[in-house]
Amino acid sequence: PDPERDRLLSAYELSAKFYHFLLKNTEYGTAAMNYLRSRNFSDKMIDQFQIGFAPDRWDTLLQFLEKRGFDLAEMEKGGLLSARGEGKGYIDRFRGRVIFPIANRTGKVVAFAGRILGDGQPKYLNSAESRIFNKSRILYNLHQSKASIRKMRQIVLFEGYGDVISAWEAGVHNGVATMGTSLTESHVALMKSLADEIVLSYDGDKAGQAAALKAIPMLEESGLRVKVAVLPGGMDPDEFISRHGAESFMERIIDSAVSAIKFKLIYLKKNHILLEEDGKIAYVKEALQIIATLHSSTEREVYLREISSELELSYDSLKQDCNLLRASMQ
Ligand code: ATP
Ligand code: MN
Ligand code: MN
Ligand code: MN
Repeated sequence: PDPERDRLLSAYELSAKFYHFLLKNTEYGTAAMNYLRSRNFSDKMIDQFQIGFAPDRWDTLLQFLEKRGFDLAEMEKGGLLSARGEGKGYIDRFRGRVIFPIANRTGKVVAFAGRILGDGQPKYLNSAESRIFNKSRILYNLHQSKASIRKMRQIVLFEGYGDVISAWEAGVHNGVATMGTSLTESHVALMKSLADEIVLSYDGDKAGQAAALKAIPMLEESGLRVKVAVLPGGMDPDEFISRHGAESFMERIIDSAVSAIKFKLIYLKKNHILLEEDGKIAYVKEALQIIATLHSSTEREVYLREISSELELSYDSLKQDCNLLRASMQ
């Protein structure tokens, strides 16, 4: 028995309901509702993900919690309130933000992520870590996606809450996200215990691509198969779905996910100017470094032939260089 933990869980459950109610049924929520609509969040998803709104006031949640007999110091420790800057007392931690409740794998709300309406810093504000919330272990939406994950033995990993939600509506029911882009060994171990394959569906911008490159070896070392869904034009999944629709997202992005090797080659190619000899040679050198690590000679041949026809280089010389590299790697 852990009464403090139970009190905190109960505070989060009630607060999530309260914020959801404020969003949907009060004047405070109007601007936030318009914002969510402008981003194509449907009423169905707003309900299913229990999205809410924290008004831009100092004591909305504070009064709600106080009336229900919660200890405010405990609520501050639990990440729902903040200590007042000077003097004694507390204020709401989340003000003027859309609230995404973060649940643990049994479905209990353990934290909030609050997004500012429109532009401003920080874009997302999370609950402080607490005895019920450890952000390096939690995967957003795992409680709703785990049934589908078990069936498919596959997880689609996103960067953001909006990506998970839009993709859910588009038909991806095995999607989760980390709290931000950094993937930890605990996340990897947790995913490995539930699935055999990960489809990395990070943002198409530089940060997302770099994060994918970092995640690949971590996932592969755990024994998970890795595929990468490649987003065009720096878009993230949420933007892609808003612009091109669910069907296009499933066909062109999720079902067209490529192998980790292929992704590395695509990434490499984007960073070299292949019209110039220097760029071409540098690209081939780095591509061979990647291809040489493949154990299967068939797989090596597939990629070497692709580069051969693409850059009009002889397959034999590519193969020779690749084998030399392999010999030097032993
Ligand atoms: P939106 O679509 O609402 O603009 P996003 O999810 O596309 O948000 P990104 O900028 O792509 O946001 O960042 C990916 C993820 O990184 C976010 O979902 C959030 O979890 C985390 N993140 C981004 N900015 C911050 C921040 N300032 N503080 C904490 N976490 C952040
Ligand atoms: Mn991004
Ligand atoms: Mn994004
Ligand atoms: Mn986004």
